[in-house]
Amino acid sequence: MSCKTPRYLVPFHPKRIQHHFADVLIIGGGIAGLRAAMALDPRLSLLVITKDTMHQSNSALAQGSIASVLDPDDNLASHVDDTLIAGANLCDREVVEMVVREAPDHIRQLMEWGTNFDTEKGELSLGREGGHSHRRIVHALGDATGHEIMRAMIVQARAKLEADIWSNTFTIDLLTHERRCCGALVWNAHHGRTFVWAKQTILCTGGAGRVFRETTNPEVATGDGHAIAYRAGAELRDMEFMQFHPTVLYIAGGSRSLITEAMRGEGARLIDSTGRRFMPDYDERAELAPRDVVSRAIVAQMEKTRQPSVFLDLSHLNAEHVRKRFPGIARTCAEFGIDIATDPIPVRPGAHYMIGGVTVDHGGRTSLPGLWAAGEVTSSGLHGANRLASNSLLEGLVYGAHAGAGASEAALEVGDSFRAIPLENAATEPHAEPLDLVDIRNSLRSLMWRSAGVKSMGPQLAEAAETIRRWCRYVLSRQLSDPAGWELQNMLTVASLMVDSDLAREESRGVHLRTDFPERDDVHWRRHLSMTRGE
Ligand SMILES: Cc1cc2nc3c(=O)[nH]c(=O)nc-3n(C[C@H](O)[C@H](O)[C@H](O)COP(=O)(O)OP(=O)(O)OC[C@H]3O[C@@H](n4cnc5c(N)ncnc54)[C@H](O)[C@@H]3O)c2cc1C
Repeated sequence: MSCKTPRYLVPFHPKRIQHHFADVLIIGGGIAGLRAAMALDPRLSLLVITKDTMHQSNSALAQGSIASVLDPDDNLASHVDDTLIAGANLCDREVVEMVVREAPDHIRQLMEWGTNFDTEKGELSLGREGGHSHRRIVHALGDATGHEIMRAMIVQARAKLEADIWSNTFTIDLLTHERRCCGALVWNAHHGRTFVWAKQTILCTGGAGRVFRETTNPEVATGDGHAIAYRAGAELRDMEFMQFHPTVLYIAGGSRSLITEAMRGEGARLIDSTGRRFMPDYDERAELAPRDVVSRAIVAQMEKTRQPSVFLDLSHLNAEHVRKRFPGIARTCAEFGIDIATDPIPVRPGAHYMIGGVTVDHGGRTSLPGLWAAGEVTSSGLHGANRLASNSLLEGLVYGAHAGAGASEAALEVGDSFRAIPLENAATEPHAEPLDLVDIRNSLRSLMWRSAGVKSMGPQLAEAAETIRRWCRYVLSRQLSDPAGWELQNMLTVASLMVDSDLAREESRGVHLRTDFPERDDVHWRRHLSMTRGE
């Protein structure tokens, strides 16, 4: 049983709080949130809220890029098949076909909005990544694709949205009345606690990698949206599927920068501390095997050699091409004295992409009326049990557009009313004993890394579930007063859902590896694991 969560994290009274009204509220300003914003009817008033600045998101960090069938030798069926194979028999085929079909138009749209993708002789330069059977990865500025896409989208969004962007604003909870979402309770230093009443709300809060000690995700990715939606009563599913990126830079004291898969696509080899190339021992696709296969092989090789990392080796490739193709990684590594063209790059896996999340239908509707969702916070059925590289920015675009259009249409049908619903949440007794939030946060992240990391096992998961429940009992019963506290409460909620789902799925599938149930079991487990908060 997951930890008991209160309906709202903080106390409020309708007469003692600020009120703000918008037709549509979008929570999150990454690729999904901004794409949703661009799909709204201009007659509607819109408010976009981001936790940090607009530039802090998983989207802005994306390196490898977006998958789309653009080469005349490629075809949609092949992209569909590659996605289904990676998804380990759990993808929704209709969703996969829809997303793959809509991809080329979204790439063209991004170009119209000013994204400068890399070209060769006037044509888009297409790269290849693990799990893809063709070159179909569009990229920008070599390995800074997300940065370039977000630059162009932010310019477009600002032009369209004028001043209706509140950055550095924390969404604490969704507001619900009679089982319907009617906006959100947010906080920022300027307005204090505010009720944002909205005819339709779109949740685009991204991932949850920060729940684990080793991760490629930025600080904003603490799973807030998953926890917020859960407390509001929306259905979540597949929370056991966290994808670990196999190659994260591992230098003590350095940032955990992701080393893009495209590097292996260009021919980089994985070697161990003895200099031996080991991937062919584990899979015939070697370095181009799907992420889960490569992550597991790296962990196994680290255990075999008793070393904290393995290495990426590009020394057999053209040095000039390597430095030009991966300028960002070259710069980061150079700061630690590593020349990527000649030196081995130390890497190991890290939590990367949250596959599970808020259940959405083809249009981005959640199970909670009035609430839509898009991007990494969702479970749409596209990724199944394992995301194919470069399909997630694409998902953000496709579902952002669908959710934006759907919410827009629904909001236009509702007349204006500037009345606040008298929602109230009473204050609880203050606690005498202060909490060391940083200590609990670090302990949680280490526990998750140890017990629910690349591979897991029943007894350790059960122990972790109990420990998290214990922490939840005394952290979630408090009404904390700042973003650090609310984030920790969200991380505990999400960790609890993840571990319980991990424990429940007694098989290994896609990114979910249970060493005590090493086989895939299609008879019993070819299904999603859903959860909704009980009253
Ligand atoms: C290092 C890295 C490299 C990647 N490379 C690729 C790639 O090459 N190709 C690919 O397809 N995918 C890649 N991904 C995955 C991809 O970037 C993400 O899945 C995708 O960008 C998610 O977009 P999003 O809009 O759903 O969320 P994000 O872009 O993460 O945006 C989340 C937004 O929600 C806001 N937010 C969160 N919590 C709150 C809150 N409580 N209150 C208010 N606002 C909140 C944040 O401030 C942010 O604006 C990569 C991810 C990482 C981390």
